[in-house]
Amino acid sequence: MPPCVLRSSAVLLLVLLPAAGALARPVPEFFRSRVEDVGEAVGAVTRGVVRLEAVSAGGRPVYSVSYGEADPYRRTANFASAALSHHPEAFALRAPGAKPVLMVVAGVHGAEVETVAGALNLIRVMETGSDLRGRAWPELAEKASRFRLVIMPCCNPDGRARVAKDGFVGLPADTMHYYGQGTTSAGKLYNWPWVKEFHPMVGDVGFLGGYFNDQGVNLQCDDMFFPMAEETRAILRLARLEAPDFVVNVHSHEERGEFLLCAFVPPAMKLRSKEIADRYLEVMKKEGVPACHFTRSIEDARADWAMDLTDAVYHLSGAMCITFEGPQGCSDSLEWAIGYEGILDTHLIMYRELLRIGLEPGGFRGKPGVRRGNWKE
Ligand SMILES: [Zn+2]
Repeated sequence: MPPCVLRSSAVLLLVLLPAAGALARPVPEFFRSRVEDVGEAVGAVTRGVVRLEAVSAGGRPVYSVSYGEADPYRRTANFASAALSHHPEAFALRAPGAKPVLMVVAGVHGAEVETVAGALNLIRVMETGSDLRGRAWPELAEKASRFRLVIMPCCNPDGRARVAKDGFVGLPADTMHYYGQGTTSAGKLYNWPWVKEFHPMVGDVGFLGGYFNDQGVNLQCDDMFFPMAEETRAILRLARLEAPDFVVNVHSHEERGEFLLCAFVPPAMKLRSKEIADRYLEVMKKEGVPACHFTRSIEDARADWAMDLTDAVYHLSGAMCITFEGPQGCSDSLEWAIGYEGILDTHLIMYRELLRIGLEPGGFRGKPGVRRGNWKE
């Protein structure tokens, strides 16, 4: 990186940080999300199984932690072929009574540190029954014990390692944009969605945002039919192997917590996603934790553009797939600043609700007796 680039990044930081000081809140101990925190957490796993799924472009480990033994399945076709045979169960036919499989994909965007903190707290609940605050989650732990739960706590460790912040509560959204999407070599913020015009993000880069791995690949917008990044391939490979019933791809944004519906999935999955999104908001209201005031309409999930990682996971695995966007607590709209406790609750309540849904009659599909992967109305 030429020295002029370093200087422009530093100047930009100085401009952004003084304004940040006034409202910023210290990041509490329980809000652990650094790459070394992930290493420590997986090192402390005793009840689950840790696997190295990939080595990132920058040479960092990408782990999965799984709980509950994997029930066997019979597979005679890949998912696309199975679904087009009108027998999606040909992809993964499990015996009646097999455990539901929930897969959590966190830390795809390295600056969305909240997602890693949520996943590490989930792992702690699976290990001890309590989160890193010491708060017990008995229902979550009990329900999860009836699942196969597969957690990728930090899919993009390169991006996370590049981000000097451990939280954004009380900081201006532009600080988050700086760390998330990065800057040009002249110090101009690569705001969303302009940032996506450049991929891989190489060349005119001052600070490479946490969106990207060390090769400039944004896993969420990778070439889904021919992934550039080993990290993307690892997520897809694991989803294909596990044949999960449900995959939640966990992200953060500057607004309140909400589910985003996938665009390139069957209409029945969009409807079911909307039901789950609505239900999550109701639960959040009941728990007194701020969440988005509304859920996206089916119309918002129109297939106008291109598929992202969440859509791709469905097409490869047949799982019900949804993106979750949790809050970051930026100061620009103070009503959104719910603090680190609230952010963590946003994530853990979301996981608990998904576990509840997965164990109900009909499970994630919402229709008893309908086989996994069958989204025909
Ligand atoms: Zn994101």
